[in-house]
Amino acid sequence: MDVFDTVVVGAGVAGVTVANLLGRAGQRVIVVEARDRVGGRIWTDRSAGFCVDLGASWIHGVDGNPLTDLVEAFGIDTMEFTVGAFQPDGRPIANYDPSFSLLDPVAAQRWADDIHIVDEQLQRVIASSSADQSYADVAAQALAARNWDTERVQRVWEFYRRRTEEQCGAHISDVAAHALDEDVIFGDEVVFPGGYDQLVLALARGLDIRLNHVVKSVVWSESGARIDTETTSFEARNVVITVPLGVLKAGAIEFVPELPDEVAGPIERIGMGVFVKVFLQFPQRFWQDDIYAIRQQGPAGDTWNSWYDVSASCGQSMLLTFSGGPRGREVEAMSDEQVIDSVLDSLKRIYGESVPDPVNHWVTRWGADPYSLGSYSHVAHGATHDDHDGMATPVGGVLHLAGEATWSTDPATVNGALLSGHRAAERILGEPIDLTTLQAVRS
Ligand SMILES: Cc1cc2nc3c(=O)[nH]c(=O)nc-3n(C[C@H](O)[C@H](O)[C@H](O)COP(=O)(O)OP(=O)(O)OC[C@H]3O[C@@H](n4cnc5c(N)ncnc54)[C@H](O)[C@@H]3O)c2cc1C
Repeated sequence: MDVFDTVVVGAGVAGVTVANLLGRAGQRVIVVEARDRVGGRIWTDRSAGFCVDLGASWIHGVDGNPLTDLVEAFGIDTMEFTVGAFQPDGRPIANYDPSFSLLDPVAAQRWADDIHIVDEQLQRVIASSSADQSYADVAAQALAARNWDTERVQRVWEFYRRRTEEQCGAHISDVAAHALDEDVIFGDEVVFPGGYDQLVLALARGLDIRLNHVVKSVVWSESGARIDTETTSFEARNVVITVPLGVLKAGAIEFVPELPDEVAGPIERIGMGVFVKVFLQFPQRFWQDDIYAIRQQGPAGDTWNSWYDVSASCGQSMLLTFSGGPRGREVEAMSDEQVIDSVLDSLKRIYGESVPDPVNHWVTRWGADPYSLGSYSHVAHGATHDDHDGMATPVGGVLHLAGEATWSTDPATVNGALLSGHRAAERILGEPIDLTTLQAVRS
């Protein structure tokens, strides 16, 4: 049996980052990946002749983000699209009220101002919240401090609910009061007209990656580990597990002996959300020019409330809508036809019966995907941010967990996954590694 310095399980951005850095340091490393492709939750579909990012789309804030320098060093084009973090204003958005009338600019700004006012109060409420409070509890408390009528309160409340569904893939009552603390964007957001996968493919270049290898068990001791797939086994001095939190929660990989409580506890407490993306390519645009997004207020927006105009980055007349949390799980259980009919019904209530049928569509189902079992992690009600880092506590000097769910300051992101891979590599080598070494792509 081959013996490696390090076996990395999972070829998403965390996995290829750690393998890349250890390889550069002279280690003998392989990456073992269940799928027939590299990238994990970065997945660019080009079947229609243009790029559709079915997993991650955005760099959420380019300032101070390690991805910014990497993308530049790799010569990958990006395009500004600052709306992905569910902002109420800052960029042109067509907001529709509960009876499907377009909000005029004054009314739209009044609503956005309401959100900013409550946000300030909310930060204070969160700072003094107790461990048993959910984000729903603190949002309700911040809103109760205003002497507003029900309608006004409702519009802000639903904004918080939807923001949580997008940012966490979970219902507002199911996440901790502190769950959105890290949700601050520094600088513009950008997307990748040529596909996000360019980044992960560049990081993976030259690595020994064994595709179609589903890891079933990891047998470890202080002297090393054996990694078993259905057909083969690998031995290594170190093992880095980067599979998504959903896969760990489901017990799809057996650890022998079991993971200690410092790691198993956080795996249980952190939540794995579901966020469904639906792309609709239309024969022509029927919505306004020069807007970033269309938003629907009120009960009509319960499942579909935001449509991002991604036409510029796709080069097609294309809208991206989404549904997260319990609604997202319901959507995943529907057929594509039912999903498209449901989205079109919502659009027709705004734009009328002349909305054309889409010529193409994409519906993601990351919750049902056996190698993801969810879209991204969040601080569930009862968990803390420290649980993210706790998950990555080194075990027996041999076993390391990495991946977006293990990074407390920016979970649920590509940059969080990248930094978690960097941390695992540093821990294995026992010395700091300059992250900019990643910029030298092997050809
Ligand atoms: C719909 C969606 C939208 C998103 N949008 C954004 C965004 O706009 N911006 C952003 O920054 N982030 C976004 N994210 C989050 C981002 O995609 C992830 O945080 C990041 O890609 C996770 O990387 P990772 O390496 O931790 O995990 P992954 O990319 O999931 O890699 C883990 C790998 O492990 C493999 N694996 C699983 N089980 C096994 C097994 N038993 N054996 C071997 N291999 C296995 C998987 O196949 C996978 O390749 C989004 C995610 C989703 C799903």
